[in-house]
Amino acid sequence: MARFAYYGLLALQHRGQETCGAATWDKQLHRFSAPGLVDQVFTESVLEKLPGWVACGAVTAVPEKEVGLIQPVSARTGVRLVLCTNGRVFNYRELAQKYDVPAWSDAQVLAEVLSRKLQQSDPLEAVGELHEEVVGTFSFVAITERGELIAARDPTGLKPLVIGSFGFDYGVIASESCAMDVIGADFKHDIEPGEAYLFTPYSIERKRFAEPNPRYCAFEYVYMARPDSIINGISVYEVRMRIGEKLAEEAAVEGADVVVGVPETAIPFAMAYANRTSTPIHMGFVRTGRRIRSAIKPTQFERLVGVQLKLNPIRRAVAGKKIVIIDDSVVRGTTTKNTVNMLRNRLGVKEVHVRIGSPRLIAPCPFGVEVPARDELIAAHLTDEEVAAVTGADTFCWLSIEGLVEAIGTPREHLCLGCFTGQHIEVAQRGMEFLKELKEAVAG
Ligand code: SF4
Repeated sequence: MARFAYYGLLALQHRGQETCGAATWDKQLHRFSAPGLVDQVFTESVLEKLPGWVACGAVTAVPEKEVGLIQPVSARTGVRLVLCTNGRVFNYRELAQKYDVPAWSDAQVLAEVLSRKLQQSDPLEAVGELHEEVVGTFSFVAITERGELIAARDPTGLKPLVIGSFGFDYGVIASESCAMDVIGADFKHDIEPGEAYLFTPYSIERKRFAEPNPRYCAFEYVYMARPDSIINGISVYEVRMRIGEKLAEEAAVEGADVVVGVPETAIPFAMAYANRTSTPIHMGFVRTGRRIRSAIKPTQFERLVGVQLKLNPIRRAVAGKKIVIIDDSVVRGTTTKNTVNMLRNRLGVKEVHVRIGSPRLIAPCPFGVEVPARDELIAAHLTDEEVAAVTGADTFCWLSIEGLVEAIGTPREHLCLGCFTGQHIEVAQRGMEFLKELKEAVAG
């Protein structure tokens, strides 16, 4: 199973490029994790040290120096287990105190509390009890020393979690359905908010441990997820095409010669925009090297390197033309500024009009998406005209929030739009009681 986990993680590499790890069970738990990319960390010899017929793994976007704290994390104070989670437990320090475990990280504390609950309750009840104590959001997969695999998604469903199968047996859980496609499993459906699954060698059980209260992350559709994934029953690709159409309705550029989508995430936006405005679409750039998500790289140096590796322009496609660049999102504006500068000064592009397939990003994400602090977000401080001036573009427009909601096609009250509106959902408000830095971030 380690190899299935490996290929699944490769398919999910876009969700985090700082650390990765996996664990397996063959009557005992085996675990390996390290900083780095999936194909760098999981060498043949590492995979051979992960025997077993149950596996879980994770990639994360947050650097972690302590290898022991890289996911999957292990818990040892109750029923021994390994756990991979996506989300944020705001009250983990209080929980650590209550259960007398180290407050190393929220994932670690989540694992320890689950491990304690499993001492007294059956696994699906334990998930319900865990949820009662957690202030935050989670989608997790855990494997116990007894060989059980437990998967759960909190009632907000903020973080995606899907289930699939090989043949009739439901046995594959992942953040995105693209991981299933890669390993040849059949995607079935989302794990519902407030729902948990238990897999043992003999059975599969499913239980609603809390009433659903959906607050799906809108950023998944714009940026985070792969376009070949289905998130909350909705095709990410279709949402991105609808976003391109919305951009054309809201901010079409008259008389443009060519539309270019950059980076790859923005190509569906650009195709739909081009179709709707009858503007030719061209491949304006070729990526050199790996896909690096510059927005989530931790240092300025890495961000700059990321920008250089991202974009190598195709002169013939753009030189001397009036072009529309469609990007997926703008965080600090570094990439956009470099791109516009390169187009104008090195390639002699006549006009550059920038259209962004997401609304203005004005606030950090309390739930673990690596959006920088508010004072680094270009949209939080400048008008469209000012951003155009700073980046050197002729015009600059973001998608409206209404446009995004319509493109997703989910009622607005079922979405989290916090980083676009600055109004965070209720659980984040409660989280502020526990995390000073969150309070400062949101207030800032
Ligand atoms: S604040 Fe933004 S990135 Fe974070 S969960 Fe909400 S929509 Fe997603």
